[in-house]
Amino acid sequence: MTPPMTPPMTGRLEAGGGAGETHAPGARVAGMIPLAVPNIGALERHYVVEAVESGYVSSVGPFVAEFEDRFAHRVGARHAVACATGTAAIHIGLVLLGVERGDEVFCSDFTFVGSVNPIAYLGARPVFVDSETRTWNLDPALLAAELDRRASAGEPLPTVVEVVHVLGQPADLEPIVDACERHGIAILEDAAESLGAGWSAGRYSGKHTGTVGRVGCFSFNGNKIATTGGGGMIVTDDDELAARARHLTTQAKVPDVGYLHDEVGYNYRLTNIAAGLGLAQLERLDDFVAAKHRIAARYDEALRGLPLNLPPRVTGLDATYWLYSVLVEEADGRGRDELLAHLEHHGVGARALWRPLHAQPPFADAPVLGGRVGDDLFRRGLSLPCATDLTDRDQSRVIDAMHSFFA
Ligand SMILES: *Cc1c(COP(=O)(O)O)cnc(C)c1O
Repeated sequence: MTPPMTPPMTGRLEAGGGAGETHAPGARVAGMIPLAVPNIGALERHYVVEAVESGYVSSVGPFVAEFEDRFAHRVGARHAVACATGTAAIHIGLVLLGVERGDEVFCSDFTFVGSVNPIAYLGARPVFVDSETRTWNLDPALLAAELDRRASAGEPLPTVVEVVHVLGQPADLEPIVDACERHGIAILEDAAESLGAGWSAGRYSGKHTGTVGRVGCFSFNGNKIATTGGGGMIVTDDDELAARARHLTTQAKVPDVGYLHDEVGYNYRLTNIAAGLGLAQLERLDDFVAAKHRIAARYDEALRGLPLNLPPRVTGLDATYWLYSVLVEEADGRGRDELLAHLEHHGVGARALWRPLHAQPPFADAPVLGGRVGDDLFRRGLSLPCATDLTDRDQSRVIDAMHSFFA
């Protein structure tokens, strides 16, 4: 039997940070318009075949370094260190910033669970910070008030504040950075969902998400805007942190000394095959971002007037609309769940937004600042199909199904 050389061009893969799959990733559902699927084509095949034929299939190989260099250049960071997953990148990122057992880490409450699990891996304690309604990201006022209150009460401060840019929407970082700098707290940006997004006004104008905090982390899971099948990236401008990241992700092996490992490390490097996929996706990233913008603009136009909140549009905080998501107003006992069922019936693969972290069983005892905004996003939010290769015709079907629900 010969193995199939042709990757599925539109293999169905549920998106949304991996939460709540109703179908196995990769499973096709005939007639359904998928929420988001990887866009894999000839360029990807070219690089992957090259990696395979070179014999460098593991984490030693030229594509890994090339992918890191090009990625660093693309986002405007001094260093990029490729990891096996986005979760691994965050895990190492927290270690780089000195998080230890028993420490507190403040973290966005409304996000995928991959943001917080690494905090638990380290035996640290998350404190969840609710979203603001303007960006759906960490509420700067809530954060500043708590940090200032703790400082003046002489209470311990967190080691790190982890800010997530959800759904491709940059957070309002200026007041967050101000509050953290006032108290000497490092910021880790979870930019897993926001490759291609950044700021175009204010202090961080021209910067890409993930490059403002001391450490930024990205994901190349199959549902993200660019994929390596599975993978992640740590970015930083700090030479020492980058070197330490490289060390920790390769079993803390000291080079040129026979099998010496000077601390507990991790087997977290990206493979050369995966990096080949990543190189191709990176070359096509601008097209993917343009497609997301085009899809979002058309939805905005077509859905205006329906009883929905459209995704945030904040001047200067330039989103990619990685997952185009709306909030449904409840009326006459009909809301988000009824709309989801209606869309499914019409062959539209929509999906609910995440259950906030404060409502996840492993973190039920964690303190939470606010929480109502995240609860509301979970209760009323859903994402619409927005794969980068979504056709106009399929998008019209989605729009028609949305209108027929409210008719
Ligand atoms: C996808 C995602 C992660 C985890 O990335 P993986 O590559 O799936 O491990 C972390 N945080 C957020 C916000 C994500 O969406």
